[in-house]
Amino acid sequence: MLSARNRVIGGLAAFLVGMGAFAVPGGATAAPVAPDGTSFTAGAAGAGDAYFPFAGNGGYDVRHYDLDITYTPPAPAPAPIVGQLTGVATIDLVATQDLDRFNLDLRGMEVQAVTVNGKSASSVTPPAFGAEVEGAAYWHVQDDAARVWELTIQPRPKIMKGQSARVVVAYGGETIRPTDVEGALYGWVTQRDGAMVVGEPEGSMTWYPVSDHQTDKATYSFQITVPDGKVAVANGLPAHDPVTDNGWTTWYWNAPDQQASYLTTASVGDYELRYGVTDSGLPIIDAVDDNLTSTNAATSDASLDQQADMIAFFEETFVPYPFNSYGSIVDDDSVGYALETQTRPVYSRVARESTVAHELAHQWFGNAVSPARWQDIWLNEGWATYAEWLWTEDSGGDSAQMSFEAVMDIPADDAFWSLVIADPGPLGLFHGAVYDRGAATLHALRVNVGDEAFYAGARQWLELYNDSTGTTEDFQAVYEEVSGQNLDSFFDMWVRTRSKPTSG
Ligand SMILES: [Zn+2]
Repeated sequence: MLSARNRVIGGLAAFLVGMGAFAVPGGATAAPVAPDGTSFTAGAAGAGDAYFPFAGNGGYDVRHYDLDITYTPPAPAPAPIVGQLTGVATIDLVATQDLDRFNLDLRGMEVQAVTVNGKSASSVTPPAFGAEVEGAAYWHVQDDAARVWELTIQPRPKIMKGQSARVVVAYGGETIRPTDVEGALYGWVTQRDGAMVVGEPEGSMTWYPVSDHQTDKATYSFQITVPDGKVAVANGLPAHDPVTDNGWTTWYWNAPDQQASYLTTASVGDYELRYGVTDSGLPIIDAVDDNLTSTNAATSDASLDQQADMIAFFEETFVPYPFNSYGSIVDDDSVGYALETQTRPVYSRVARESTVAHELAHQWFGNAVSPARWQDIWLNEGWATYAEWLWTEDSGGDSAQMSFEAVMDIPADDAFWSLVIADPGPLGLFHGAVYDRGAATLHALRVNVGDEAFYAGARQWLELYNDSTGTTEDFQAVYEEVSGQNLDSFFDMWVRTRSKPTSG
């Protein structure tokens, strides 16, 4: 299984190199220096991530997304599971270079209109490579086979470095059930009764124009209009009460904390909203589907009841909870996994206690501090899994040492040990070893440097890279500082080697 995956990874990487990571037709190659000597160039078509070269974009920094969306879920069976979405995205950004053109990522939607600072751009066919285009314009390249989805906008006047701009994109289309590079459902996943919206790693571009990489975090606000009776739940807190008019209800949410695009949600379903607050005053809003089976409803209720205690435990273990609110979305549908969408994880069919601990821990490890490159995902999944182990031990179950030993019981010749977890490849992001070897790495690190340095390092990591991103090398540097040790051989053996570690 693993070796087969690795062969496919090689094929994909070779394919992406072969097509030229930034050679989007008419898009993001550097424009020549203008005759008047100015240096306006096109922003890059990608954020520079080796796994997803076209995810994110260069040349600007998004500060805020305001997403005004109207969604019609599919008609009852036997109609196809296809919904209808129309949106207006208002994107406030600041240019980080003198910008001639810049890109947004948008997949499966059609663009109806674009303005920059109030000035309309006209729709043109994608120009030939390197060709000039007259005036303010936009064009949209969508190549599903190559997994390239790029909306290029040419603003006029051009945007100077440091200048802010408001970009408004009106768009829409049929929503389907998009899949990631592994073939798993993600993005705006249309369901019979609504939508489960889970964007990791670069699926948010299926429902709004976005710089879809975690290195460009931003704040969000949402107005989501759905047929009356449906509930739309996004990140953060309600901005005000929903408004119902003429058979439609608009739900308003505001997420004022810095947020990576893959952690955005706007799930729609037959949810019951439950409002609570922790002892320390953190609002908790859960959205629980009315249609869970009675067993799944009972299991989920028991797990959600523990969220406040879990938050207190992780705050005591690490640092204070990083965002303005929390809560869970438990949907009766399934994408086959849960996702730690910021402040409000999404669960498929049931929220089990260990999964709730895992997705909650991601609010610190993954959300407040995100992986700078997708290859660093073990920093998300290793920590979330290790936090599960700590919660299990604290609640009277197996100790973290026992969970560690269970991983180390996997024989050395098992394929489990053949994944380099600090570079698992785009098809290995969610391989079990990223989770379990990742957690075992953290336990071995703890044994190696001692409890005091281990927890001091965790706090330093969370404080130093809060609202930002870090790499495996950054993480190692934090632990070298707190422990006073050179940890090259430790990290080489645990996260950079294709074999079972021999010792802590
Ligand atoms: Zn996880």
